[in-house]
Amino acid sequence: MIKKILIANRGEIAVRIIKACRESGIISVAVYSDADRNSLHVRLADEAYHIGNSPASESYLNIEKIINVSKEIKADAIHPGYGFLSENYNFIKAVEDSGLVFIGPSSNSVRMMGDKTSARKLMREHNVPIVPGTTTPITSLNAGLAEAEKIGYPVLLKASAGGGGKGMKKVLNSSEFDSAFQSAQREAIKAFGSSDVYIEKYIENPKHIEVQIIADKHGNYAHLFERDCSVQRRHQKVIEEAPSTFLDDNLRKRLTNSAIDAAKACGYYNAGTIEFLVDKNKNYYFLEMNTRLQVEHPVTELITGIDLVKEQIRIADNRKLSFKQNELKIHGHAIECRVYAEDVDNNFAPSTGHIKLHRRPDGIGIRVDTGIDPFSNISVFYDPLLTKLISFGKTRAEAIERMKRALGEYKIAGVLTNIAALRWVLKQSAFLDGSFDINFVEKYWLPLLPNKWKGEDAQEYEEAASVLSALLKSSSMEINPDSIKTEKNKWSNNHE
Ligand code: ADP
Repeated sequence: MIKKILIANRGEIAVRIIKACRESGIISVAVYSDADRNSLHVRLADEAYHIGNSPASESYLNIEKIINVSKEIKADAIHPGYGFLSENYNFIKAVEDSGLVFIGPSSNSVRMMGDKTSARKLMREHNVPIVPGTTTPITSLNAGLAEAEKIGYPVLLKASAGGGGKGMKKVLNSSEFDSAFQSAQREAIKAFGSSDVYIEKYIENPKHIEVQIIADKHGNYAHLFERDCSVQRRHQKVIEEAPSTFLDDNLRKRLTNSAIDAAKACGYYNAGTIEFLVDKNKNYYFLEMNTRLQVEHPVTELITGIDLVKEQIRIADNRKLSFKQNELKIHGHAIECRVYAEDVDNNFAPSTGHIKLHRRPDGIGIRVDTGIDPFSNISVFYDPLLTKLISFGKTRAEAIERMKRALGEYKIAGVLTNIAALRWVLKQSAFLDGSFDINFVEKYWLPLLPNKWKGEDAQEYEEAASVLSALLKSSSMEINPDSIKTEKNKWSNNHE
């Protein structure tokens, strides 16, 4: 029986897992680096242990240290969250070998799905449709050119070990192939230590739709419907929602059946996500499987009522799923906005600094999954995701209105954020009528940069400054109010 869990992560997802532990009567243990000494997850956990220097390679990615600490403090299990070591075969194998419980799939399933080309091959063998292309890495320039010719341009070069959109290059014709191939290989080796690159047909204007699946160790599989994650910047998701307005019952049935087939193909247990591209003609193609909890899991929790983290713990504890497929129904609509510390006008460059003001939205239909509070430090060392704002409504329209309200109420000072940009997205007709695809940001957002947004949004700035000075009056902290930056200049309500 799992009584104590070490959370090998930080930020909002560590906080999310701590909450599930607390509700389950399980002791939560945080680990932290130098930069995270005063972070929210450290303060909220029942116990917290320092594991190293600020760079992730010296702390959150230190396999030996994390396993040693888990053993020393007598944790029963490790929850990896997402990112960091969550999909690292060596880590999961080491956890299994140490006798600790890994809250996630087996190392074997992770290995089978970790390499994109072998995953594609496996899917084809199990009749899950894949994007046309190769199922082995390209061995030479000529072989690559021949494959691209066969598939038909445009094609996409992708890193076999890929993730985070790295090593991905679109190629429009054969004259671009050579330089794109070399640059994809360079990026792949830098990011993943392997230069293996393969080719996929470039699907024009698709939607990114993924299926949440879950399975226990007793052979019970279920899906928790789909999420539409088509609003992306640089191939990374920004807004996700469930359900997708694009699916009819027939397509939903085929997609979810394929997702279950994919999970069975790798003997999967625990929570996982199968990602698909769906084209305008409603053909769908397997992209990859994420063998872990997904950032956007809350929208699924809200429309199904299932707590995915508690379910993960239950499965790791060898218990059966707490529900049956036919008990699940889609209730209402949920939307998640990822609030990043970034400068949207400057190619989304991360923004760092001390959080000087953090006024969270609340009220009916709003969930805030955050890793920050006032005086948190946003450093260069980690992903700039600050908060996930999630709204729920009886209908999509209600969820959108609630999200717009929540984004309006949300005030962060000390770093630049994308809050105003997110609000702008929610007002665009292509978002409102559901016609958007993965190129939404390129089509509608980027053409407006950089000059459209000149001119201070004085009101937002003034408001943040006055809340801050009221705060300062009741504390002895010395902060120069002039130093606060809100998303002034950017994406204000006046520019629609
Ligand atoms: P990563 O693992 O690096 O995130 P994915 O394979 O999951 O890469 O793809 C990320 C995003 O890149 C997709 O959501 C989609 O926007 C785009 N993409 C990937 N493959 C294709 C493709 N074959 N055609 C068009 N867009 C693609």
